[in-house]
Amino acid sequence: MVQSRSLIDESGKRTDGRVIDELREVKINVGIVKNADGSALIEFGKNRIIAAVYGPREVHPKHMALSDRGVVRCRYHMSPFSTDTRKSPAPSRRETEISKVIREALEPALILEDYPRAAIDIFIEVLQADGGSRCAGISAASVALADAGINMRDMVSACAAGKVDDKIVVDINDTEDKEGGADMPVAYMPNLKKITLLQLDGELNPNEFNACLEEAVRGCLKVYEIQRSSLMEKYFGDEKGMKEE
Ligand code: ADP
Repeated sequence: MVQSRSLIDESGKRTDGRVIDELREVKINVGIVKNADGSALIEFGKNRIIAAVYGPREVHPKHMALSDRGVVRCRYHMSPFSTDTRKSPAPSRRETEISKVIREALEPALILEDYPRAAIDIFIEVLQADGGSRCAGISAASVALADAGINMRDMVSACAAGKVDDKIVVDINDTEDKEGGADMPVAYMPNLKKITLLQLDGELNPNEFNACLEEAVRGCLKVYEIQRSSLMEKYFGDEKGMKEE
């Protein structure tokens, strides 16, 4: 990633008008897919992504079943109309890789020992992409897993940070992703304080790396509050949740 033009103006505003430590607007609606055991729609800026969870259910083919724990299968898919140029509906290498890293980011939060011989299937369908779709997909899938009643140790919240105009910024958008200096997607379990995904595209020195990671985790904590209130709103009808009890 070599940056060729300035993406932050003199007043500190980014290409979409945000300041460097500002997240895009995030909204989550829980339980929007009638036929799934759990589901969520996330709007993360212009990203619009549905996560649907099926399970625990019988594993087919049966040889994939594990006797001591459940298996997690994950499919991340971008719709042909989700990007500015039509994307082939066939699964790409990128989608196969992202499906794998999302599964690995979610698995540490799931108490899979509770589901021997069973499968938990996670489908992430990107309807509209605008940079950061893997992070938004992870955050939506985590809410969908909770909505499905899967036993979990923690939520998984995800957010990227990166380097734009030599500044560390949170929640990289599509333009910053393509033209900026670095993009670091991070997934984080906010109560256990553990990172479950860390990728880096671009170059950062050690100080920038630490600052970027800190910014991404701060972003994850903001996403966590929205995940939490979306679930509280569905199950208790109160988006402030049980904090006030
Ligand atoms: P992420 O969406 O997690 O940031 P990438 O960094 O691979 O993943 O992609 C950044 C953005 O590039 C995507 O969110 C999407 O807007 C765009 N993009 C990805 N794949 C394609 C594609 N095949 N065609 C057009 N745009 C794409």
